[in-house]
Parts: sequence; C-alpha cells; structure tokens
Amino acid sequence: MKKTVVLYPGVGVGHLVPMVEVAKLFIKHGQSVIVAVVDPQVESTDFSDAVVRARASNPSVAFHVLPPPPADSNSDSAPTHPVVQIFRLLKAMNAPLLDFLRSLPSVDALVLDMFCVDAQDVASELGLPVYYFYASAAADLALFLNLPSKLAGVKAKIKELGDSVIKFPGVPPFKATDLPEVMHNDEVLKAILGMFDRMPDSDGILINSVESLETRAVRALKDGLCVPGRATPPVYCIGPLVSGGGGKEHECLRWLDAQPDQSVVFLSFGSMGTFPVKQLQEIATGLEKSGQRFLWVVRSPRNPDYKYGDSLPEPDLDALMPEGFLERTKGRGLVVKSWAPQVEVLRHRATGAFMTHCGWNSTLEGITAGLPLLCWPLYAEQRVNKVHIVEGMKLGVEMRGYNEELVKGVEVEEKVRWVMASEGGNALRERVTAAKVAAAEALKEGGSSYLAFVQFLNDMGTSIVATVSELT
Ligand code: UDP
Repeated sequence: MKKTVVLYPGVGVGHLVPMVEVAKLFIKHGQSVIVAVVDPQVESTDFSDAVVRARASNPSVAFHVLPPPPADSNSDSAPTHPVVQIFRLLKAMNAPLLDFLRSLPSVDALVLDMFCVDAQDVASELGLPVYYFYASAAADLALFLNLPSKLAGVKAKIKELGDSVIKFPGVPPFKATDLPEVMHNDEVLKAILGMFDRMPDSDGILINSVESLETRAVRALKDGLCVPGRATPPVYCIGPLVSGGGGKEHECLRWLDAQPDQSVVFLSFGSMGTFPVKQLQEIATGLEKSGQRFLWVVRSPRNPDYKYGDSLPEPDLDALMPEGFLERTKGRGLVVKSWAPQVEVLRHRATGAFMTHCGWNSTLEGITAGLPLLCWPLYAEQRVNKVHIVEGMKLGVEMRGYNEELVKGVEVEEKVRWVMASEGGNALRERVTAAKVAAAEALKEGGSSYLAFVQFLNDMGTSIVATVSELT
C-alpha cells in the first residue's frame, strides 16, 4: 500500500539538504511525501536561502511551510545558548506540526531530523510510527547513542575529561576533546544527551551512510552494542544521499572549465564556517606558497557581537587578504565570496582535492566525487567526523593545527602540495576513488543502500512486491 510520509528536517542547511534527498527516494519508490519546514522567517537567512534553493531545484517534492509557533509557546526568553534555543524553538513547533498533520487526509509515518526529538510526542499523540533520518555518520550515531549511559556514571563534566581517550564499540578511540565543544555548556549537554536518550524509542533510524564505508560502526549498531541495557531500533544505511546541485550557473564553474584535470584544490568550510582575519591570511599565504591551483570560498569573519542567525555581509577581499595576494595568484587561484555551488565544484573534472570542515554532507560530497579530504574540523560533531574519516575510513588526513590556535600557512602549503603532488596524495586519491565506486554500487538497484531502503519500506508495511523479492 502506498504510504504518505511527512519528513521533518527541523532547522539548518546541512539537515534540510539531505532530507530533501530522502524525500526523492520515497518518491522514487512510489510513496507520497511532504517535507514540513519551519518558517524560514523564524530561522536564519542561510536557512531561508537553502529552503528557496531546495524548492527551486526539486519541483517534484511537496513542501509545506509550518506557521511560526504561537507567541506564548516559546516564551522562555531567558538568554541561553543558540543550540538550546533551537531545541526550544523546535519544541514550540510541536503545536503547528500537530495541526498540520491533523489537517492531512491521511498520514502514515513521521521521519524526524535528530534535533526534532520532541516531535516524538506529536507522533505519540497521533499514534504514528516515528523514524529518524540521521544526517551524519553511522559512527557518530554509534558514539552518541552510547554517550548518555557513559556520562551518567561520570561525575566530571566533558571539559574536565580533557584528553582522556573514550572507546565505544564500532568507533575508533577518540578523545573527550573531540566531542562537540558546545557540549561543554551544561544546558546544551543536557539537551543533546536527552536527544540521544530518546532516539532509541523510535521505530527505526535511517542513516545517510554506506555500510561498506562504516562496516564496524554499522555492525555495532545492528548488534545492539551502542545503547547499553536497551534495544536499538533497526538501522538502515541508505546513503550516500547527496544533493545533485543544480543551482544557478556560477562564475567559478566557468573558471574551473579552463583548468587542467584534477589540478585544483577546493577549500570550503560548510554553511557556517568562518575564520578570523589572521587565519584567513595564513591560509592565503600557504596557498600562494604551495604553487598549486585553488578555489576557495571565503566568508566574512564574525565580529564579537554576532548572533546565531545573523547574516554575514559579503566579504571585502581586498581588506581580508594579504596585500597583493589576489593579483599574484590571479589565474592560478580563485577566491569566491560567501557561497559556491559545492557539489558541482567537487564533481568538476578539474577539482583534485577538498579541504573541508568535515560536516557530514561535505564529507559525503567529497567522497562521492572521489576526492581526498584535508580535514579541518570547526564546530558541531566535525572533530569526531575527522576521527572517523582519518582513522576509520582512511580517506583523509588532518590539518594538525585545527587543535591549536591557528592552522599555520606552512601547514596549508605542505598539505596542499602533498595531496596534489605526491605519491602519498595519489595513494589517498586511489582509496577515495575505490570508496566512490563502492558508494555508487550501493545506491544501484540491488546494492546495499537500495536494499536497506526497500527493507525499511517493507518494515513500515509498504507492499512493494516487485522489489521485496530482491531481499531474499
Ligand atoms: N555548501 C555549498 N556551498 C558553500 C558551502 C556549503 O553548497 O559554499 C553546502 C554543501 O555542499 C553541503 C552543505 O552546504 O551540502 C553543508 O553541509 P555540511 O553537513 O557539510 O556542513 P554544515 O553546514 O551543516 O556545517
């Protein structure tokens, strides 16, 4: 039977973009979906732009913009951390979400982004099955599901755990300092642990990953080793779901057309990555000295009174870059202001490596383009992603200085030269190419991710007779 499923991506560009890809997967398998989005007016300009782009480039996907929450429902205006504000906003959005679901002629299931954990109450109220789409690595899920019970017995705050090494099933050993820095804040920690404590109560978790990329973590999840003392819901690796791009033609793509094959290192740091002027100048110096071609997305530095959601002005490159840098690197390098069509850039034949902040979408986009990753984690779960990429999957190398005050120009120079023009860099590129091929196979009919999604639909009670036979 055909199902109607409501997908609820919550907020954040990196959460919306892959959820739209999930929507397309449901449609491809003959199901009906609606993506319910939080009114971009109550979120950030970046999110607002992302909603516009997602709608414009995915005409087959039905979107519904939820109205803002009732004024009195989000009235706890005590100043708090932006991450806690997001949880509060999403909790307050339960009322408009419930109204919307009730207004539909039929709805069979709710698929939530992890931050929308409070919407489990909405699903309960309506008696709907509830699933998650986890838009990060399987290894992250294995790690974070373990964390509530691990920390329950530890009196020390995460900050006080310092460099101590944590070992969880399926995950390379990592340091407590690799956990998201926002978790040093008590309120944020409580909210995040609460989120992962509740997730196992769902009916299943879809993961934007590929089994072959994360065999150990997926095994640990499936063997129930990640939620001590409780059952783990079924997990389904259905990725890599990567947006097809399709944005407006951008000048940087024309520039890439004029460059030799695999000759350009692309530097981009997610939808929120910014650097102080001093760091930008170190990067510029390193790129210049490397002698390699580069394409670099630069955002304006945040000033001290920046608040989450504020839009950043266009960067003034003449003021930010070292004197004469743009002139001297003209032709060999291009600096793009604020935003580039990343997926198209990564897939361009001229791009040869990717310096990334290790956001999970960027990671998958780099791997599926077959590019070696230079890992420079900045915020959120990116430090643990870096551990998975470098230690687990072995598809990247770290920028050492991410853990210090600055990544020095000399490291940028060395790593860029290494990845673009050394045997080690070539060997890394070959490993990523193999991962790219395996990921493409997984998505094909009969591949592991394809079958995982069919299994999920089957478990949901959807009869898709033609494909179910492939499972046996
Ligand atoms: N992105 C882009 N152009 C940019 C910066 C980011 O298209 O200049 C896209 C990128 O392709 C990815 C998303 O924004 O799909 C960022 O998601 P990710 O999970 O990598 O990082 P986040 O922004 O959530 O930290």
